[in-house]
Amino acid sequence: MNMTLTPTTAHQIRNVAIIAHVDHGKTTLVDKMMLQSGQYRNEDLAKLAGGQHGLILDSNDLERERGITILSKNCAVRYTSTSGDSYRVNLIDTPGHADFGGEVERVLGMASGTLLLVDAYEGPMPQTRFVLEKSLLHGLRPIVVVNKVDRPDSRPQEVVNEVFDLLVEMDAPEEFLDFPVVFASAREGWATLDLNEPSDSLRPLFETIIEHVPPPEVGLEDGPLRMQVTSLDYSDYVGRIAIGRVREGTIKRRQRVLVFDRQGNSAERQVGQLLGFDGLDRKEVESVAAGDLCAITGLEPIEIGDTISDLTCTDPLPAVPIDEPTLHMT
Ligand code: GDP
Repeated sequence: MNMTLTPTTAHQIRNVAIIAHVDHGKTTLVDKMMLQSGQYRNEDLAKLAGGQHGLILDSNDLERERGITILSKNCAVRYTSTSGDSYRVNLIDTPGHADFGGEVERVLGMASGTLLLVDAYEGPMPQTRFVLEKSLLHGLRPIVVVNKVDRPDSRPQEVVNEVFDLLVEMDAPEEFLDFPVVFASAREGWATLDLNEPSDSLRPLFETIIEHVPPPEVGLEDGPLRMQVTSLDYSDYVGRIAIGRVREGTIKRRQRVLVFDRQGNSAERQVGQLLGFDGLDRKEVESVAAGDLCAITGLEPIEIGDTISDLTCTDPLPAVPIDEPTLHMT
């Protein structure tokens, strides 16, 4: 069994939410980031080469193969910087345009920055407005990725100006208006900060993420365990799988924990499997430390918004009602 995922400390982790209008290239970009970080297994690549499955992110077969769905589509991409340090970039998907049940709030709560992915021809679309506004309210600074700059009809500089105007219109904080811009061709697998400079990889995008997205804020890394369940998955084999970001302390496999619900009740339960994110896989790990995301089995009954603490914790995170059924249309 893989005992830990590397890297493991918060300063080597970047949690980034991707905000993109449909068809602007989110799937292609994430796919290429994983490909360039060497994270696909050989059998995945064989399937890709066979052309039967399209992009990995859309592959239902792979999801079934694992027995656990990857509905939440968190991808963890390993990256070694030009200065030789290794990082893990957790790419967190956000819902397209409608928001059911506060999902946007929950996923943004796991992120420390956003990638605002915009088509270099179409420009920013109003459908992503809701998610973008929420991200600004969460204090998440956007990195603007102008994608499809290979298109002959692309107009990247105008699109940057349109994004600027949109942020002004949304009353974005002054410091966010000076956003970093990365020009990319996700399809061709390259990114550049300067359109006059050729690039043959997505490295400039990774470097921008490392530089501009802060590492996750954590409480005391050696403090008591505190985390909140931000989403749930389900598997026929293990039932409900709780997903969230560890805010403080460390969670361990088989650890006995307290689960607090919104009614203020707490119950002692035992962590079953503890899974870390690695590429599109979830891998069993021995422990997950503050700042990182994890998936946990064995805590049923468990609900979104519940919080998890160790048995000695006298000051758990409050369980908040973040799954009220609301529908926001934009
Ligand atoms: P998503 O809906 O945001 O996940 O978008 P996809 O990744 O599925 O891409 C939508 C379409 O745009 C597909 O036909 C892609 O091949 C195309 N596409 C994605 N990235 C690029 C790019 O950099 N350049 C060009 N020309 N097309 C792209």
